[in-house]
Amino acid sequence: MTTAQKLSFDVQLTDHARTAAEREQVLANPRFGQSFTDHMISIDYTEGAGWHDARLEPYGPLSLDPATSVFHYAQELFEGLKAYRHAGGTIVTFRPYANAARFNHSCVRMAMPELPEETFVESIERLVQTDRDWVPTTEGHSLYLRPFIIATQVGLGVNYPSKTYRYMVIASPAGPYFTGGVKPVSVWLSTDYTRAAPGGTGAAKCGGNYAAAFVAQREAVEQGCDQVVWLDSAEHRYVEEMGGMNLFFVFGDRLLTPALTGTLLPGITRDSLLTLAADLGLKAEEGRLSIEEWQAGCESGELTEVFACGTAAVITPVGSVKGRDRAWTIGDGTPGAVTTRLREELVGIQYGTRPDPHSWIHKI
Ligand code: PMP
Repeated sequence: MTTAQKLSFDVQLTDHARTAAEREQVLANPRFGQSFTDHMISIDYTEGAGWHDARLEPYGPLSLDPATSVFHYAQELFEGLKAYRHAGGTIVTFRPYANAARFNHSCVRMAMPELPEETFVESIERLVQTDRDWVPTTEGHSLYLRPFIIATQVGLGVNYPSKTYRYMVIASPAGPYFTGGVKPVSVWLSTDYTRAAPGGTGAAKCGGNYAAAFVAQREAVEQGCDQVVWLDSAEHRYVEEMGGMNLFFVFGDRLLTPALTGTLLPGITRDSLLTLAADLGLKAEEGRLSIEEWQAGCESGELTEVFACGTAAVITPVGSVKGRDRAWTIGDGTPGAVTTRLREELVGIQYGTRPDPHSWIHKI
């Protein structure tokens, strides 16, 4: 059930908001996910009563019993989207209903209650409206929004999902995700670790997926690479996704991205790029690619560009690949023409410098 009676929000504004000078200091050099705005959203859920006590309140710590379910059984999930400031001052978000829908798909997988999509979007609108001065004006910067939900029942019983939950939204000013700018990343093929298996939680944005990934990301760094690339769980042969981003492979005018088999996250950037690629006259396909095909394609010159995509970093070229028994490079180490074109198109829509033919922009 995703539609319900409209919740009314209680608004409690902070009496210790940062000064304009303090805010500008943060906005001058935002470090991803390190500083937060003055307010947050909270909505509680109780089995039987449904969603209740929706509120906008001062940003601050939570006080939770040590036996709260989320700390033990990780019944938790989150979303990530951004608010952008257009020239002229209008503030927008990008496809927030797509995040609302994915949030609810994740909730179903994690046996958590769905939140009406309208409430999800309203919660974002309210937080961004209240903290609108925190939406950066600098080109390429944005306000990152982090909706999430945690199981709040107190008790260590492991057999049943929690009967109570809290949904929250916090916001953090963001500059470019990779501080080196749009320069190609190097990737490590993870053959020792698996992110997700069929029937598992790979398509849900639950914290546990990320907790289980840290060791492989650390291995990638130890191997001298920037990011980990996940492969299928059965053979460690077919490409799934990269860290917190989906992957695209460019064969001339044909784009291929791994199909949504249930083991990778259905990225909203990925979905948008499939549409934009078709708009630009490129053939955009969802399918399967092995690491052997990836290497052979680069060596023959047929596979011309590879890029990763996601909300945080938008589009990032992949420049080199390393695995236990292989290593190769892609292109000449500079972002390719298709990668650059798609990036400009998507960023242009998000920042309002290009038309929005698919009505993806949601004004706040
Ligand atoms: N895969 C994973 C594992 C992610 O965490 C993300 C970021 N949400 C993505 C892909 C890209 O998704 P989106 O384009 O919706 O940000």
